[in-house]
Amino acid sequence: MSLQLYNTLTGKKEEFRPIKDGEVGLYTCGPTVYNYAHIGNLRSYVFADVLKRTLRYNGYKVKHVLNITDVGHLTSDDDNGDDKMIKALKREGKPFTFVAMQEIARKYETAFTEDLQALNIELPDVMPRASDNIAEDIEIVQKLLEKGIAYKISDGIYFDTAKFPSYGTRGGFKLGDLKDGARVAVNAEKKNPRDFSLWKFSTTDLGWDFPPYGKGFPGWHIECSAMSRKYLGQPFDIHTGGIDHIPTHHQNEIAQSEAAYDMPLANVWMHNEFVNMGEAKMAKSGDNFITLQTLRDKGIHPLAYRYYLLGASYRTPIDLNHEALKAAQNTYFDLLRTIASLEAGGTPSSSYIGRFSIALGDDLNTAEAVSLVYAILGDVEHLSSADKRATIFDFDKVLGLDIENQSKKLVEEMNAIPDDIKKLASAREDARKAKDFKKSDELRDQIAKEGFEIMDTDSGSIVRKKL
Ligand code: AMP
Ligand code: ZN
Repeated sequence: MSLQLYNTLTGKKEEFRPIKDGEVGLYTCGPTVYNYAHIGNLRSYVFADVLKRTLRYNGYKVKHVLNITDVGHLTSDDDNGDDKMIKALKREGKPFTFVAMQEIARKYETAFTEDLQALNIELPDVMPRASDNIAEDIEIVQKLLEKGIAYKISDGIYFDTAKFPSYGTRGGFKLGDLKDGARVAVNAEKKNPRDFSLWKFSTTDLGWDFPPYGKGFPGWHIECSAMSRKYLGQPFDIHTGGIDHIPTHHQNEIAQSEAAYDMPLANVWMHNEFVNMGEAKMAKSGDNFITLQTLRDKGIHPLAYRYYLLGASYRTPIDLNHEALKAAQNTYFDLLRTIASLEAGGTPSSSYIGRFSIALGDDLNTAEAVSLVYAILGDVEHLSSADKRATIFDFDKVLGLDIENQSKKLVEEMNAIPDDIKKLASAREDARKAKDFKKSDELRDQIAKEGFEIMDTDSGSIVRKKL
């Protein structure tokens, strides 16, 4: 089946061709573990997971690497600001020691892994930590120094963009002109305002030794160049990340890796759009910091968030809307209940599988793929109840909505609802039918006080224990 993917490098959708027959190397820029991931960040990993599952559905064996940045990422993507990990030490009132930094990193790494699991994102094959791969960073920097493509100034070692003529010129990586004075003032010692740091010299006791330069830290970009090359080889097939990584982080990864080894780093570069909150950017601090736990606190199941994300192309920005998210959750639970009522023992429909593969093959059109689930449920002419179930379970290998387990769980939960709550729910249903909304709301509140919630779906209401 043809698989067309949008490649930022060329600015086009292209037929995917692996480097090695039947195998794909996939690298995803992972989190900087100085805080919890917000649900915008998590969109990047749902996207990478759907991509990986689609590749596998198409018969490829996938090796997925997702790094953990536990050192070296400054508050700005450029060379400004504090190290994000140092910022976390200050925020959490910890001493400026390597041990304390690692403690913070491990805490948020664990939370991140739990988020992945809650979203039914398959854990990557390798999750290398930047701090475990410093020698590999140094090797690339050394190579660039030997080739005369990197130079040393007082605060670190920099990449000389003038020595890499295609910098900022390709496809979606094209850069506009620098505004007068932009970035220049930041570091007057740089040869070119766009030159970026590969290695920063340490101003404290923290850091790794890079003889003869003394102690320092790798730049964030070099870490991804080094870890992707180490675990997938160079070149590898697909590199993913959020769109904010295009102009700086990925641009710089490409420049330093290509310049050092005279070959591409990755053949296909894919980027997911953002989850926004109206005009505001989702940030890792302040009111716009929405984590998976924030969603749970508002009664949204993590998999309902996954379902919500699948309703849009990964290349479309999503404006987070609580009402739409609630509606998506109702539809998701309705789907689970419907599927629980289907019979077991069927065979997946090859015609629907064909349509599903075409939808995904069109640059992962998940919205169309999900709509096929409903086409199946409505198809009384061609499919038996059991075949519907079997086909939807087959689709779920890619959608990752954990349909089989979650529908069983929902039925168990619904069966375990105490009789008095069932009675209240049924009285509420009657009040709703009689359009006595005052009474219906009162009953809903009473049910909520008892720790249960009612979801009104197309096929009737569902009562569930609150999250
Ligand atoms: P970070 O932990 O900040 O390095 O970001 C982790 C991933 O989330 C990166 O791939 C970012 O590009 C991506 N990202 C950051 N903010 C958003 C957002 N609001 N929506 C979607 N992806 C995002
Ligand atoms: Zn990266």
